[in-house]
Amino acid sequence: MGGSLESLKARLADVNALRVASTVLDWDQQAFMPAGAANARAQHLGNLQRMAHEMFTDDATLKALEGAVAESDDDVALLRVVKRDLDLSTKIPSALVAEKGHLAGIAHEEWVHARATNDFDSFAPTLERMFEIARQEAEYFGYTDDIYDALLDQYEEGATAAEVRTMFDSIRGPQVELVKAIQASAPVDDSALYGEWSQSAQAELTREMVASLGFDFNRGRQDTAPHPFCTNFSVNDVRLTTRYKDYLPSSIMGSMHEAGHGLYEQNSPEKWDLTFLAGGVSLGLHESQSRLWENIVGRSEEFWGVWFPKLKSAFPCLAVESASEFYRLVNKVKPSLIRVEADELTYNLHVLIRFEIESAILKGELKVKDLPDAWNAKYEEYLGVTPESNSVGCLQDVHWSQGSIGYFPTYTMGNLLSYQIWNSLSNDIANPNELIARGEFGPILVWLRTKIYARGRYMTPKQLVLDVTGKPMAADDYLNGLGAKYRALYNL
Ligand code: ZN
Repeated sequence: MGGSLESLKARLADVNALRVASTVLDWDQQAFMPAGAANARAQHLGNLQRMAHEMFTDDATLKALEGAVAESDDDVALLRVVKRDLDLSTKIPSALVAEKGHLAGIAHEEWVHARATNDFDSFAPTLERMFEIARQEAEYFGYTDDIYDALLDQYEEGATAAEVRTMFDSIRGPQVELVKAIQASAPVDDSALYGEWSQSAQAELTREMVASLGFDFNRGRQDTAPHPFCTNFSVNDVRLTTRYKDYLPSSIMGSMHEAGHGLYEQNSPEKWDLTFLAGGVSLGLHESQSRLWENIVGRSEEFWGVWFPKLKSAFPCLAVESASEFYRLVNKVKPSLIRVEADELTYNLHVLIRFEIESAILKGELKVKDLPDAWNAKYEEYLGVTPESNSVGCLQDVHWSQGSIGYFPTYTMGNLLSYQIWNSLSNDIANPNELIARGEFGPILVWLRTKIYARGRYMTPKQLVLDVTGKPMAADDYLNGLGAKYRALYNL
């Protein structure tokens, strides 16, 4: 019977190779590809992705899986993960997969155009169809309580809409209240952080910073791309990208964020490299690591105690005189319209709005044509700001045009989990902030590696959270941590 397990592993290695080839082409497209190559690249990516999908969902994979007998605990975990992935890939009829792929191509073009021209109506019929496809997908995946569960599970195994609602119910009140209290206090002027900053100085500084966290440039790179992201081709080849804007912390905090994703991938065990057990266990857990390094480490006063002198020597014109002043400015809270530019505190309110809206559309409680009005009303209610156009309102995010419906809550799960995991780390490592103050990240990285990164997809996300923190995901650590930080910052 070992023959079946061996043939399954050989098949999965081929699937992995095809997927990685697509990933390299996609990375190249975003970082280096000349614009004129777009058509050929789309063709190559389409073919490779189809080949990978066909090879994975072929009857031979299922036969090998059914015949495979685990010879170790690792095998047991591998078979579980492959079964789940195969279920997700085969439950949807290929005609619907093809229709969604085709529609996503059209929807992306229409979305880009609609956002540029502030023309929601031209995009609405396609978006309506995309939600209809999501509804059909959910029916094929199956669910018991809530249609949203089926879609969310693709990104966060086992998570449910009811849990997401509980999560938002716990944070909505305290967060809206804290934001209001901050808005009523003296405004922070962070104009000193805007200017024309040398890109090479930013590249050099962020590279040094990311390396100091433990990101291994012998097994990774950092390049420039219009949107910051992290991708990987193996545990020994992890790619980060960053971008340079007139807001100086943009490249710095963006690099810390992507490095958090990168550390997770680089520290996945070598023995699982190129297999389905390697890498991050879910989107929520992955985001918990990018947020932990970006916000809890990178936006701490201790961190800037070490890095502010280096920042000043890289940017002598920067009109900020002390680390504590920089710390105050880089943590400025200001309700705004754009999710990706939101501060740590208001970020979840942006996610909450998207969750409520996509959930209402899926259930037929909201029509796509009424989306802009619903969006604007919620921004007014939760953030006290009103989009002056749909371009900076309901058209700002790419997700729905790609059919990624049920994805947004994983951002907020990441925020909550980052604090919950940090508290657990603080029980084992006394005063981790003293380590940060000395620029010593080694013990923090080792703890995270042992508890999370080295476990790849061995457990389910829920099992991992329970194992690492001793409890299921909850909002209290997050609310306490954030509350203490911002009350001190704003003298509330
Ligand atoms: Zn991220």
